[in-house]
Amino acid sequence: MYQFRTTNDLLKLCKKHNVSMAEIAIRYEMEHSNKHRAEVLKKMRKTMKTMKEAVHEAIKNPQDSAFHMAGGDAPKLMKGLKKKNKMATSPVVLRAMAYAVATGETNSAMGRIVAFPTAGGAGVVPGVMLAFAEEFKTTNKKLLEGLLTASAIGKIIADGATLSAAAGGCQAEVGAAIAMAAAGVTEMRGGTPEQAANASAMGLKSFLGVVCDPLGGLVAVPCIKRNMLGASTALAASDASLLGVESFIPFDEVVAAMKNIAAIMSPKLRETALGGLAVTKTGLRIRKKMGLPPLKPTDID
Ligand code: SF4
Repeated sequence: MYQFRTTNDLLKLCKKHNVSMAEIAIRYEMEHSNKHRAEVLKKMRKTMKTMKEAVHEAIKNPQDSAFHMAGGDAPKLMKGLKKKNKMATSPVVLRAMAYAVATGETNSAMGRIVAFPTAGGAGVVPGVMLAFAEEFKTTNKKLLEGLLTASAIGKIIADGATLSAAAGGCQAEVGAAIAMAAAGVTEMRGGTPEQAANASAMGLKSFLGVVCDPLGGLVAVPCIKRNMLGASTALAASDASLLGVESFIPFDEVVAAMKNIAAIMSPKLRETALGGLAVTKTGLRIRKKMGLPPLKPTDID
C-alpha cells in the first residue's frame, strides 16, 4: 500500500521501503490508477516534453499577449546567461527564471502548457527542473524523478489545503508550485526525502498569505513574474536545505497554515480581481480596456 496524504505518511513510506519520494510517487500512481510502471513513466515523459516545448516556444518565438500584459521577457532573461559575471544570481537561477516566464508567456499567448499544478502556477516547476537539468547536465531519468517528487508534494497540498486560487489565493498556486519544485530539485540533487520536505516547507512559508489579484482576471499580471521569482525561491530553499538549514515548522504544519489562511482570506483576494493589484490605477485601466463594468467603491472596500 502506497497511499499518503501528508509528508509524515510519505516519509514513513520512503523509510520503510528505503526509496525516494519519486519512487513512492510512481508506486502510488501504479496502485491508484492501476497502471504499469512503464505507463506511469510514459505519461510523465509526455508531460516533460510539453513543458520543454512551452518553454522553447516563448524564447524562440516571443509574442505579445492580450492588452500587452506579457510577452518578450523570457528572451531578455536568457540574455543574462551571456553576461554571467555581471549578474547577481547564478546561471541556474537566471535560466530557471527565464523558463518560468517563458511558460507563462506561452500560456498568455494561448499556447499549450502543462497546468502543474495549475495554469497560473505553471512556470515554477518546469523553470526549476528544466534549468537545473540543463545547467548541471542531469539525465532525463533524474528530471523525470524530480517531476514525480514534485507531484507527490502537490498531492499533499491538495489533500491538506488546496491548489485552487479561488479557495486559497496565490499561495495555493505559485506557493504550491514553489514547494513542489523545491522538493523535486532537492531530490534531483541527491537530497534525502527529509531534505526535500524541508525545502518545501521553507519554500511554501515564503509564499504564505499571498493573494490572487490578477489584472482584469487574466492569468498574466502579476502571475508570470510571481512564477519568475518563485523559481528563484525554490532553488534557494533547496540550497538552504542541502546546506543543513531546517524549517522550524514542518511541511505538514505549513500546509495546515495555508488552509487556515485560505479560510480567513477575503473573497476579494481570491481570483475575483476585486482587490490588491487588480484594483490599482493600472489594474483599473486594464479593466476598462477590457470593457469590464467599472467597480463601485463598495466592490473594493
Ligand atoms: S495571481 Fe491568481 S491567477 Fe495569478 S498566478 Fe497567482 S493565483 Fe494564479
